[in-house]
Amino acid sequence: MQKNLIWFRNDLRVHDNTALHQACQNDTDKVISLFISTPKQWHNQSVSKKKISFMYYHLISLQKELLKLNIILYYHESTDFLNSIEYLIFFCKKHKVNNLFYNYEYAINERYRDYLVKKKLSQKGFLVKGFHDNLLFSNRQIRNQKNETYKVFTFFKKKVIQNLHNNIPQCFPVPSKRKSDRDIFLTSISLKNVNLNFNKSFFPVGEKEAINRLKNFCIYKFNDYFLKRDYPFLDATSMLSPYLSAGIISSRYCLKVLLKTKNSLPLNVLLTSPWFDQILWREFYYHLLIGFPKISRSESLVTWEKEIHWINNIKHFNAWKEGNTGFPIIDAGMRQLNELGWMHNRLRMITSSFLVKNLLINWREGEEYFISNLIDGDLALNNGGWQWSASVGCDSVPYIRIFNPLHQSKTFDESGNFIKKFIPELKNVPNHHIHQPHEWSKQKNFKIDYPNPIINYSESRKTSLSLFKQARLKLHKNGLKNS
Ligand code: FAD
Repeated sequence: MQKNLIWFRNDLRVHDNTALHQACQNDTDKVISLFISTPKQWHNQSVSKKKISFMYYHLISLQKELLKLNIILYYHESTDFLNSIEYLIFFCKKHKVNNLFYNYEYAINERYRDYLVKKKLSQKGFLVKGFHDNLLFSNRQIRNQKNETYKVFTFFKKKVIQNLHNNIPQCFPVPSKRKSDRDIFLTSISLKNVNLNFNKSFFPVGEKEAINRLKNFCIYKFNDYFLKRDYPFLDATSMLSPYLSAGIISSRYCLKVLLKTKNSLPLNVLLTSPWFDQILWREFYYHLLIGFPKISRSESLVTWEKEIHWINNIKHFNAWKEGNTGFPIIDAGMRQLNELGWMHNRLRMITSSFLVKNLLINWREGEEYFISNLIDGDLALNNGGWQWSASVGCDSVPYIRIFNPLHQSKTFDESGNFIKKFIPELKNVPNHHIHQPHEWSKQKNFKIDYPNPIINYSESRKTSLSLFKQARLKLHKNGLKNS
C-alpha cells in the first residue's frame, strides 16, 4: 500500500482538484494532506490581511470537506518558503509518505520553491508529482508560431478558443470516500498574529458558496453582463475573483457551469461571450507570468518605461490611498477597496490610470498598494492590470489614452449612487452635481467637508503625454528594443 500526501497551497477545494484527484486514484492507497502557512513569506509578498483571513476560513472549511472523504488535513505554521521545504521533508519522513502530490504555482518564488522540493525529496527517495491545474491550458499548449508565449490578447484568445473547440478540459469530480481509517481526526489550524477579518456577507465561506455564486451568475446575470458590467453601483459581475484567486473554484469549473446552464446557446457564442473573455484575460495574464519571469520581479514588459521620470509626490500618493483626492469617482473606488478589499473592475481601471497618468506615480507603488489590500490579490492579474493601465505591458492601453475621471464618473455612475454610498460627505450634493461637487458648493455657498481636487486634470494630462512621449523617443535614440 502506498501513502500519498497532497500538499495544498493555492487550491483549497475538493472538487475539480487535479492533485487531489490523482492522489486518490488507487482505492487501496492511504491519502493524507497538509497545508503549510508561511506568514513571513506572505508579508514579504504583501499578501493582504483580508486575503489571509479568507484563506484561513477556507482552510477550515476544506478540512471539514476532506474529513467527509476520510482524509486528514494536517496544518503547520512555518515562516517562509525555504523553511516550509524543511518541514515538508520532516513531515514526509515522519508520516512515511511515498508520493507527494501538488498543483503548480507560477510566480518565480513559488517555482523555485517547487524546484527545490522536487530536487530534495527525490534525492531522499520520495516520488514528487506536480500538476497543471490553475489554468484551462498549460503554457506549453498555447504557443505562437515561433513557439513563444503570446503577447497579444486577441491572438492568444483565438488559439485558446481553437483548442477549446477540439477539447474542453474535463473537471474532476470530488473523490469518493476513502476506506474508513480509525486515525481520522481534525488537527488544529491557527494563524498567529493575524487579525481575522473580512466581510463574510459579501464573500461567504466555502466552495459550495463559490459554486452557488457561479451558478447564480450564469443563470441570472450572464445575459446582461455586457450591458451592465461597467456600472459599479449595479451588482452585475460574478464577484468570483477572491475564490478564483485562492483556488476555491477553478476556471475549468467556471466554463463547465457556463456551458451547462447556457446549453441552448452555441458553443462559439459562449466561448466568445464578454464574460468568458474576462476568464481568458485571467488566463492571458497567467501565461505572461509564466513566459516572462521578470513580471514576478515587477519589471515592465516594455523597456522604455525605465526612461519615465516619475514624480512620486508622497502627499498625492497618500491622498489617493485614503480616497481623498477631491475626484469623487476616484475616492469612491479607493474607499471601496479600503473597506471591502475588493474594487469593481471599471474603478480599478480608472484609479490606476489616475495614479500613473495624472499623479505620475510609479505604477509599482499602486500595484503594491492594491495587492496589500485586495481580498482577491493575485500577482498575475494585479500586475497585468497595472501594466495595462500604465501602458507598459503586453497589449496595454496606448499611452495617449488617459481616463478622464469626470467623463468616467458621468458615464458609469451618472446618478452618483455609487459615489454617495462611499463618500457620505457628499450626501447633500444634488445628484447631477455629484461629479463636480466643488463647483456646486461655490455656486450655492454651501460648505462641504470634502477635499479640493489635488491636481488640475488637464495640466496633468499634458505633462503625462509629454513624459511618456519623451521616454519612448529616448528609447529610439538609444536604439533599444521595445521589449
Ligand atoms: P467578473 O467580471 O465576473 O469576471 C470573472 C473573472 O474573470 C474574475 O473573477 C477574474 O478572475 C477574471 N477577470 C475579470 N476581469 C479581469 C481583468 N480585467 N483582467 C484579468 N482577469 C479578469 N483581479 C484579481 O482577481 N486580482 C487582482 O489582484 C486584480 N488586480 C487588478 C488590478 C488592476 C489595476 C486592474 C485594472 C484589474 C485587476 N484585476 C484583478 C482584474 C479585475 O478587476 C477583477 O478580476 C474583477 O474586478 C473581479 O470581479 P468579478 O469577479 O466580479 O469579475
